Amino acid sequence: MVDVTISEAARRLQAGEVVAFPTETVYGLGADATDPAAVAKIFAAKGRPDFNPLISHIHDPAQLDGLVVMDDRARKLAAAFWPGALTLVLPRAPGCPVAPAVSAGLPSLAIRMPAHPLARELLKLVGRPVAAPSANRSGQVSPTTAQHVRDSLGPEIAVVDGGACPVGLESTVIGLTGVTPTLLRPGGIAAEAVEAVLGEPLGLPQDARVESPGMLLKHYAPRLPVRLNATTAQGREGLLSFGPAPAGFAAVWPLSDTGDLAGAAARLYAGLHALDHAPGLDGIAVMPIPGHGLGLAINDRLARAARGR
Ligand code: AMP
Ligand code: MG
Repeated sequence: MVDVTISEAARRLQAGEVVAFPTETVYGLGADATDPAAVAKIFAAKGRPDFNPLISHIHDPAQLDGLVVMDDRARKLAAAFWPGALTLVLPRAPGCPVAPAVSAGLPSLAIRMPAHPLARELLKLVGRPVAAPSANRSGQVSPTTAQHVRDSLGPEIAVVDGGACPVGLESTVIGLTGVTPTLLRPGGIAAEAVEAVLGEPLGLPQDARVESPGMLLKHYAPRLPVRLNATTAQGREGLLSFGPAPAGFAAVWPLSDTGDLAGAAARLYAGLHALDHAPGLDGIAVMPIPGHGLGLAINDRLARAARGR
């Protein structure tokens, strides 16, 4: 296993290599977004289809100049939620130096300023936008620990180990390329909070194939079958519980004992990884989880896990 320090990680990124690093959402597999050959290594390592665009990460809003075209909505959202688990999709600026493959050829670019102190330090040292999707093979459950990264991408992958990711779900992605701001992906910041800052409701993508291509893919799939809204056990199932767990399950991974959605989000992927690797289980059952706040993103990922095999 290849544990690297922040300065070694920055050196590798500047040299056009890929490095996995922690963010508050999930572990990212980073590369210099302005280097087409480095970006190609991300797609190769993940087995990611080239039509699925990547998010570019920055440490300072001053880096936005020349990358994207900001508007008032973008400035408001950035002021309210950055650094944090919010991604903005904006028109690429004329002469934008980010490799076209990062945008999957689209005229837009997804940008996020993460809050994790190690990610911020790394991005500052690199001094360029870093493209970073989740550090897992395409289609698998996203990693929230360095061990998850190694389990998915192999022991040779260079990882900055920062422990468990505190938010535990990918960022919320907001599209700002049209008249109506759109929710391209629910995530670690509640859609209601975004709407409150914007002062208008979020639309849904008109044409998801064009507007958020990655969301159409099979995603977040464990090896075992996943059964949603379970209230009683069937066979030798492991349970992701939310509130008090009913009896009869072969294993229980509590998402939250008290019905706390943020706590459940933070434990979701670790629970899927753990039950998927627990011996003797033939399925994963999930108790009903409310759909408001972070529950929207939790239910989105669980629905993909359930149909994704
Ligand atoms: P990931 O990097 O795996 O967290 O996925 C990033 C997701 O953000 C993609 O799968 C898209 O759905 C969305 N995204 C990234 N860039 C764009 C873009 N330029 N336009 C629309 N959606 C984007
Ligand atoms: Mg991903």
